[in-house]
Amino acid sequence: MALIVQKFGGSSVADPDRIKAVADHVVRTKRQGHDVVVVVSAMGKSTDNLIRLAHDCAARPDEREMDVLLTAGERISMALLSMAIIDAGAQAVSYTGSQAGIITDTEHGQAKVLAVRGDRVKESLASGAVVVVAGFQGVSADTKDITTLGRGGSDTTAVALAAGLGAEMCEIYTDVDGVYSADPRVVPEARKLAEVSFEEMLEMAATGGKVLALRSVEFARNHGVPIHVRSSFTWGPGTWVREVQSSMEQPIVSGVTHDASEAKITISRVPDRPGIAAKVFRTLADRGVNVDMIVQNVSTDNHADISFTLPKTDIPKAHDVMDGLVAHIGGSGFSTDDGIARVSIIGAGMRTSPGVAATMFETLAAEGINIEMISTSTIRLSCVVRADEVERAVQALHRAYGMAG
Ligand code: ADP
Ligand code: ASP
Ligand code: MG
Repeated sequence: MALIVQKFGGSSVADPDRIKAVADHVVRTKRQGHDVVVVVSAMGKSTDNLIRLAHDCAARPDEREMDVLLTAGERISMALLSMAIIDAGAQAVSYTGSQAGIITDTEHGQAKVLAVRGDRVKESLASGAVVVVAGFQGVSADTKDITTLGRGGSDTTAVALAAGLGAEMCEIYTDVDGVYSADPRVVPEARKLAEVSFEEMLEMAATGGKVLALRSVEFARNHGVPIHVRSSFTWGPGTWVREVQSSMEQPIVSGVTHDASEAKITISRVPDRPGIAAKVFRTLADRGVNVDMIVQNVSTDNHADISFTLPKTDIPKAHDVMDGLVAHIGGSGFSTDDGIARVSIIGAGMRTSPGVAATMFETLAAEGINIEMISTSTIRLSCVVRADEVERAVQALHRAYGMAG
């Protein structure tokens, strides 16, 4: 008898019929003799609706209160799913993240899981119940305040519980039947991948392949938890994310991702002397701004421009410090551009294959798409382009590397 963690995303519990279908599946798993911990997201788009409501009530909603508000979404689905499971004939009990012992740091809206103290979860499992845990939330041991784990954070709750409880695997049920070579909404001919390595999935999650939250993949890799991404609409086998031995047949490029959630800030005419970049990025870090790509252009007449990308949601925090910062370093001004997007290609085989980057640049050039920034890792290449061209870039790259199924 194994312990299995099953996570259901928002679309999987969007309405009463979906909740009842999920309850039936959970009860079936339980009747096969497994212990089951279920992690649920908020119903449908309810997190988005709560965020909108907060902004209707306050220009800059307080971060602590925002977390209290958002955790209500998952609380609703955990109770409804437990009721439906009980109705379907099994025992069930629901717990908030705090009750389930998900201990986090104090970073509201983006908290990191520090520990899983699943005592009540274990007791309930031992008594024969299915345990339903509200995803995306925890509690800070320091402040005792409720925290959330960032958008898509129910994936992280599920994998953290799987690791903490020693589960055999973590099943992530969603509205697609696995991880595809590109977002199927953008590339209809994208191919379902049978297996993806942790390192490739990390790069995909970090660059916009939003099927799994980045932190959940980090957790899975660090604790060796295999993840099975599958559909709650078809219930068929999906994609395994786990340690993969590299093989000769490995494709050079496994996937194309895109992300339009970032913006670019450019500081113009910065004096070209030691300490400027240090000052800029220390100031932004101290304000809690998550900087991603950085480009400094070649200096002419001892001045350079510095550009960096950041999540659009961090723009207000960055703007809080930009005027003072630009004046302090003697720059001539700054501009914010929220019309950018990033397209990335990912593949473990890229390490040993020359010419991958050239093909990417040629493909974008043939489409008339201008590259504004470039960044690389050993198994990833990313280009910043105009947001309204990014879907065309994804489609062209998917064709260029022969990824269609
Ligand atoms: P959930 O609400 O279940 O957490 P998400 O919306 O977070 O679901 O993630 C599923 C969505 O991720 C899919 O509907 C799909 O459009 C999108 N997606 C983006 N990239 C990929 C990819 N490479 N493979 C599969 N789905 C992807
Ligand atoms: N409900 C949260 C969100 O929409 C968490 C999740 O769905 O994983 O981001
Ligand atoms: Mg998700």
